[in-house]
Amino acid sequence: MKYFSTRGGEQLLSFEDTVLTGLAPDGGLYIPEHIPQLPKDWRTEWAHLSFAELAVEVLSLYIDQDEISRDDLRALVEKSYATFRHPEVTPLVRLDDKTYVLELFHGPTFAFKDVALQFLGNLFEFFLARRNAKKAHGEQRERLTVVGATSGDTGSAAIYGLRNKKDISIFILHPKGRVSPIQEAQMTTVTDENVHNVAVKGTFDDCQDIVKTLFGDKEFNAKHRLGAVNSINWARILAQTVYYFLSYFHLGRQLSATLSPSALAEIRIQYVVPTGNFGDILAGYFAKRMGLPIARLVVATNSNDILARFWRSGAYEKVDSGAGVDASAATAPVEGASDGAQRVDTGGVKETLSPAMDILVSSNFERLLWYLAHEGLAESDAETRVGACGTVSAWMQAVRADGRTTVPARVLELARRDFLAERVGDEQTLDTIRYYFENAPHYVADPHTAVGLTAARVVASQNDPSEVQVVLSTAHPAKFSEAVTRALQGSPGFDFEGQVLPPEFKGLLEKERRVIDIDAPQPELVKQVIERFAQEETSATSSARASV
Ligand SMILES: *Cc1c(COP(=O)(O)O)cnc(C)c1O
Repeated sequence: MKYFSTRGGEQLLSFEDTVLTGLAPDGGLYIPEHIPQLPKDWRTEWAHLSFAELAVEVLSLYIDQDEISRDDLRALVEKSYATFRHPEVTPLVRLDDKTYVLELFHGPTFAFKDVALQFLGNLFEFFLARRNAKKAHGEQRERLTVVGATSGDTGSAAIYGLRNKKDISIFILHPKGRVSPIQEAQMTTVTDENVHNVAVKGTFDDCQDIVKTLFGDKEFNAKHRLGAVNSINWARILAQTVYYFLSYFHLGRQLSATLSPSALAEIRIQYVVPTGNFGDILAGYFAKRMGLPIARLVVATNSNDILARFWRSGAYEKVDSGAGVDASAATAPVEGASDGAQRVDTGGVKETLSPAMDILVSSNFERLLWYLAHEGLAESDAETRVGACGTVSAWMQAVRADGRTTVPARVLELARRDFLAERVGDEQTLDTIRYYFENAPHYVADPHTAVGLTAARVVASQNDPSEVQVVLSTAHPAKFSEAVTRALQGSPGFDFEGQVLPPEFKGLLEKERRVIDIDAPQPELVKQVIERFAQEETSATSSARASV
């Protein structure tokens, strides 16, 4: 299997190059040259596999054996998911006959990004180790310096994905004093030598700008081989497809207790996904295209609703039309941002109770646009791979220049065949958290999950009786304690410490921390930090080698 850029189409890359490159040089995102179909007996053969076993089956459809052998892939996957606290990795929880929650937050940082970043970290390490094993004695080792900015939600998932990985160092910038205490503690209490938390006196946007400057500095970038772990990396999408398959089998098992085999065979799943950068739900789209019987995928957004507006009108536009567009603020996907949210400093991003979904544009959406162009415009030039890339390039160019683009009716029709979209406001989010806590089975949802649960209820009335909803739960409620407490403080019987706070969070605030303070938001200061540690790490490696 080879990969190509959504804006190029001609050059084909190996899986390894695709993963190590991240964002394509032409600004596009990598997708596979074709979507593999499920093997004939997948329903029976895969029915009882564990998460890790299923991951080997699904991922090997996208990764050639001569790139990663089956044994190596199994070892990578087992190592990645051994860090999860739940034996099923991503368990499925029943709320009522028609509604289930797929919990994706049992990884080390209690949020869904762990599913992808635990795997991505091991993959980086595997590729670097293989490259370095081929080096002659004394030859410079290949290293990777991952740099990212976070507003707190997702920096920790990147840190936990890369901690203690050989030949990789990670620098995560956060605005000092502006991330929640729990999130700050989650990041800064990781004391592995290759992990560097940089607390910048400034805002999240300042951090983001510094990262952009570093990536734009060709010399510095080449010298340190800067890498990004942002949500456009193909390996992240791929890792996320696995839980769609696993939940399909888990749902079948749970329903078989009450349904006849024939009724069971009729069941179709509607997945409802709290969405920001479109990575989580895109994995579901791939699963559907591979042959998993998914009814439709529901895009649930908060009031940063560019996607919900797209499904209403076919216009993909940063700012709701009517409000002016500041074209100068338009940028390409931000390479280097490890945060889930891709922010552009128009001031157009609305702060919500579900901050991991606060985005202005949705970086992975470009991948869906490629498939829509390819299929939807089949009678024109776009029928070829390169043709579809041309169409996507033109659309993205328009978004960059004018802040908006509109797709043809046929393309919108196709998008509506596979997806529904709903926007959910903060008040509804709080109401939903309250509703599920106060009614059996008394489930405590985090605000992102609550956006999904709300959208699920809105669309349910139009569903076919054979449809069952699975809402993806993207974070543990303790991670977003402020919103949860705000919703539930008046509810009878609510006890945050007793019911919500996991033992891992207790005492976290008192643990030893390692953090580097930067007194002004200046790229030069961050460069000096990176230089200093790079020297220490290189000399550490050579002295270790000398002592062997
Ligand atoms: C990143 C994130 C999301 C959004 O996922 P996308 O793949 O960006 O759509 C939702 N919820 C939480 C808690 C997240 O961290």
